[in-house]
Amino acid sequence: MTEQPSPSPQPGEPPSPAARRLLLVHAHPDDESINNGATMARYAAEGAHVTLVTCTLGERGEVIPPGLAHLSGAALGQHRMGELAEAMRALGVDDFRLLGGAGRYSDSGMMGLPDNDDPGCFWQADVDQAAGLLAQVILEVRPQVLVTYDDDGGYGHPDHIQAHRVAMRAVELAARDGWDLPKVYWNRVPRSVAEAAFARLDDDLPALPFDKAGEIGDVPGVVDDALVTTEIDGTAYAAAKAAAMRAHATQITVAEPYAPYFVLSNELAQPLFTTEYYELVRGARTPGGRESDLFAGTGTGSGTTAGTGEAS
Ligand SMILES: [Zn+2]
Repeated sequence: MTEQPSPSPQPGEPPSPAARRLLLVHAHPDDESINNGATMARYAAEGAHVTLVTCTLGERGEVIPPGLAHLSGAALGQHRMGELAEAMRALGVDDFRLLGGAGRYSDSGMMGLPDNDDPGCFWQADVDQAAGLLAQVILEVRPQVLVTYDDDGGYGHPDHIQAHRVAMRAVELAARDGWDLPKVYWNRVPRSVAEAAFARLDDDLPALPFDKAGEIGDVPGVVDDALVTTEIDGTAYAAAKAAAMRAHATQITVAEPYAPYFVLSNELAQPLFTTEYYELVRGARTPGGRESDLFAGTGTGSGTTAGTGEAS
């Protein structure tokens, strides 16, 4: 396995942080900020190239603010594109794309609803065709790291399951066509971390602007601790993550004044994690305990690159 992390490193020069390229594949606008906001902000700040591919516009999402309750379908999708752009500004990410262009695939709705049968929805998409579109992005960007969901999509939503299938197939297609992605991760939360966070939430709930707490089952990707290979400390980017989540105002309410909790449209309080966790499913694990850098072992330099300034 020889890896060529950067297409054109100068002879004798160490790889620059800008050579690090991270691609995230998500189902709807807001999933990236909830799952990976701190990770995205951290790597963008460190000069890595961060690319987000979102598969649908989330046109079937439930809208929280009464003042925006009139938005649905295409109008909601249009509005959520604006929310996504604002979230990306908060995270410092300027490369974000809709799979196949805006509106190519529509939101499939929750599992079991008649919406799942809409021929234009992502759940009905031909996996190879959608993966071909994503493989084009992979071949253009040449990321060393791809992040997506597990095979249950984290919690069983059809668009999340399909995003997983499309991402994993695109990795195969890109490998065939010239870019063998060194590392692929699934989003995870260690069970012990989730349990501790919900215990804190029970204590904090009386001081929060929310009435009821959710439960661990509301958090996508919770698994036994032993499955978690990688832990990204994004504490320094907690404010950026909260701002990005707040930008998705139709879908998320973050506790104000800032506390590490939020609600979705079900109004059940959940912890807002600023350390984000992953399971490495493609690529070699580095020896020792959990990795603290998604790029560990890719030959692109460590994640500690203070003072690099703007990279291009
Ligand atoms: Zn989603």
